[in-house]
Amino acid sequence: MKREDYFRWAERAARWGAEYLDTLDERPVRAQTAPGEIAAMLPLAPPEEPVDMETIFADFERIVPDGMTHWQHRRFFAYFSANAAPVSMIAENLTAVMAAQCMLWQTSPAATEIETQMVNWMRQALGLPEGFQGVIQESATSANVCAVLTMRERALGWRGIDSGMVGEQQVRVYASPETHSSVDKAIRIAGIGQQHLVKVPTDGSWALDSEALRRAIEADRAAGFLPAGVVLCVGGTSIGASDHVRQTIEVAREHDLYVHVDAAWAGSAMICPELRALWEGVEGADSIAFNPHKWLGAQFDCSIQFLADPEPQVRTLGVRPDYLQTLGQTEITNYSEWTIPLGRRFRALKLWFLLRAHGLEDLRQRIRNHIAWAEEAAAAIALLDGFRLTTDCHLSLFTFQYAPDGEDANDATERLLRAINDDGRIYLTQTIHEGQFVIRFQVGQFDCRREDVLVAVDVLRELAHAIHLDSQN
Ligand SMILES: *Cc1c(COP(=O)(O)O)cnc(C)c1O
Repeated sequence: MKREDYFRWAERAARWGAEYLDTLDERPVRAQTAPGEIAAMLPLAPPEEPVDMETIFADFERIVPDGMTHWQHRRFFAYFSANAAPVSMIAENLTAVMAAQCMLWQTSPAATEIETQMVNWMRQALGLPEGFQGVIQESATSANVCAVLTMRERALGWRGIDSGMVGEQQVRVYASPETHSSVDKAIRIAGIGQQHLVKVPTDGSWALDSEALRRAIEADRAAGFLPAGVVLCVGGTSIGASDHVRQTIEVAREHDLYVHVDAAWAGSAMICPELRALWEGVEGADSIAFNPHKWLGAQFDCSIQFLADPEPQVRTLGVRPDYLQTLGQTEITNYSEWTIPLGRRFRALKLWFLLRAHGLEDLRQRIRNHIAWAEEAAAAIALLDGFRLTTDCHLSLFTFQYAPDGEDANDATERLLRAINDDGRIYLTQTIHEGQFVIRFQVGQFDCRREDVLVAVDVLRELAHAIHLDSQN
């Protein structure tokens, strides 16, 4: 592209973006395409000659938007929202244009120093004590991998990174079954092995049972294993379960285990002081992951890992070859030494834009609204014919089943879910809870309004009625 064309096309892309956002309500939330349909629209081989931008842009408009599930749609109630406040999109554009590798202070001083300050702002916003530092990663999965590697190495006295794990005691890590699957992945990547991630039973509130944890650690010690750490869940992905943070950290401390808290989704809600009871005692953790790219509104990707002391993690992951030394500088931070990839994007910029353009009070209000509307929706759904709540609201997430008389609840619920997503006015997804197929309902889209939540309840009523009539024919 010629430099003089850049502005014209950037302007065109921005105009497209504004129109897309303005007309999102008219689109089905979940993509209505069949597998392979989009691939079939692309030539099999790459072009040898340049294609003009008009054609490229026209093909984008023709092929892509209808082939996407619209995550910024106000009636997106599936998974967890991946909010992108428009102001954070603007910052992302600027980041894309500068296209810097923010691996070292020297390669991106502003990115490094704004990152330090944004982590510090977010620490204050979440009510974490001074002393917590941190780094912005691409995902909570990465933060979980870093934390698991660090707990492994700390337990092994940093011999693993040097001589490997053959001949070492077998490391074990503890978590509840409500912990996200990325922790299982982290355990695999860390070479600990799935069977050594001990899934400690939960109590009646789906929180890790800290007495059971104590017994598991003691039994493992006696059997010759090396207990290394605990991953705590605050706002689990399935039903929003949270562990008893203070109590569990106490048990971990008795046994000198490293503690990582995964609050990828729920962390954003901790900007509201009245909700912080959910992770009471969290200041005792070694590491905390939370995704501003979920509920808070920072365009994906933006995941903060807070560290009570960065030293163990930097000791585990920091490699400093000659060609990456910064000559003549000692008082600097090179964030690539804190994380897995070398190259890093300037992720702090969108957080800076977001926090300033909205201010914390506006962001808190959105989260409070989402929770209030989720509670309202849960109450309304519980009253619909044939519906029952399977779990109450955990922040803004609840689950339900559709079990009309004489029908199998799992079958009917699955049929309803398919009907909902084929209909397209709203988008919901499922989980398996206590062996039952249940529908998750999460209110968290950045610009969601109360009326959108009420529409969702109407859609459920209408479609349940339709499939019930269907099943009686
Ligand atoms: C979403 C989520 C993750 C994974 O987040 P990524 O940033 O997509 O890797 C991990 N843990 C919890 C609790 C989550 O909700």
